[in-house]
Amino acid sequence: MSTLMAGAMSVVLYSAHVSFPAEIKGLNYWAAGLVSLACGAFLFSLRHSVFNETLVLLSANSALVWGVGLAMIGTRKFYGLAPAWWLFHLVWLLAMLGVGYWLLIQPVFAARVAVFSFLVSIFYINQILVVWRHGERHFSTIFFGSLLLFQTLVVLTRGILALLFGGVQVDLTAVGPFQSIYLAAGQFMVLLLAVGFKAVTTRRLQAILERRSTLDPLTQVLNRRGFADIYAKEHALMRRESTAMTMLSIDLDYFKKINDCYGHATGDRVLVDVAQVIGRALRVSDHVARFGGEEFIVLLPVTGVDWARDIAERILAAVREPGRGDLPAYTVSIGIACQTSSDEDLDAILMRADEALYRAKERGRDCIEIAPTPAQPLKAIKA
Ligand code: GH3
Ligand code: MG
Ligand code: MG
Repeated sequence: MSTLMAGAMSVVLYSAHVSFPAEIKGLNYWAAGLVSLACGAFLFSLRHSVFNETLVLLSANSALVWGVGLAMIGTRKFYGLAPAWWLFHLVWLLAMLGVGYWLLIQPVFAARVAVFSFLVSIFYINQILVVWRHGERHFSTIFFGSLLLFQTLVVLTRGILALLFGGVQVDLTAVGPFQSIYLAAGQFMVLLLAVGFKAVTTRRLQAILERRSTLDPLTQVLNRRGFADIYAKEHALMRRESTAMTMLSIDLDYFKKINDCYGHATGDRVLVDVAQVIGRALRVSDHVARFGGEEFIVLLPVTGVDWARDIAERILAAVREPGRGDLPAYTVSIGIACQTSSDEDLDAILMRADEALYRAKERGRDCIEIAPTPAQPLKAIKA
């Protein structure tokens, strides 16, 4: 039963590995770990068959240690840590030595169980520490972490019982209260731990997709959708606090010529460059977005027109500065529109900023134009 469950879950995790973005790591190691666990369980079922029992037991133990070890590697990779193969091999070697000694040289079942349990729990404890230190504060993390903790306690208890009471208590082929709990836990934990890991990976997928849907893939600044969300928040704040905010509409000058002379790829690099230059000129509270083509919009919350002009001049100067790799020299024009009334909506303020930009283009480009601001009583304008 648990063999089947592990097999099925490994298919689920492997298909997620194939279809999820490559930045979500570790699913393939978890899938391999489950296959190894399934092999271990299957090998145990062969111990009274025609095969050599010692060999079967050694391979079964080895497969089980590998299975849990591979899951640990998967969890570490998922959280962006080095895989710790040294720990994997150390624990596996010690387990083989211990199980081998108490199987071949001095056959003691309880000692084998204790060695196996304590060593395997190292893999689980390692994962608990990783999840504790690097896990996001989210239900999926708590779910996965709690399952790991529960599994660690079950495995450690089995080891301790083996040490205290000898083999009878922990012989899973015998009948007893601990055997029942351990077997039930073993059956479900294989499935549950994999579900727990799948939960944290799915949560990561959700965060990545949410991020992607609001970012421009080329320049990694906000796209229209992301900008609209931010604007809605800033607009609500502006209404509550009766402050002003200012919008910059920034457009590259003669960008078509850059594409024509240097090629589209260089044009793309110029777009990435200008996004970075703008970003460096802004404060952390400001927002920049690419509105398609070679037009960028900057939102400066709680900012009046004078301060906005300073920022715009800083951007013009930074763009003009030579020596950013092998990029061709280029300039930008900027239109500024200050929003002093919360009755004005995004389209209206953008239109005013674009009109100012158009005038900057007409004036000869590489300059700033400011849209006339409708007079409004305001407080707390940073100008
Ligand atoms: P102006 O100074 O009046 O703004 O002239 P311009 O050439 O910059 O403006 P125009 O609107 O005539 O041309 C914009 C060009 O931007 C045309 C289009 O091929 C190019 N473009 C739009 N999106 C991209 C992109 O993602 N990558 C590259 N490389 N070029 C793009
Ligand atoms: Mg242009
Ligand atoms: Mg344009």
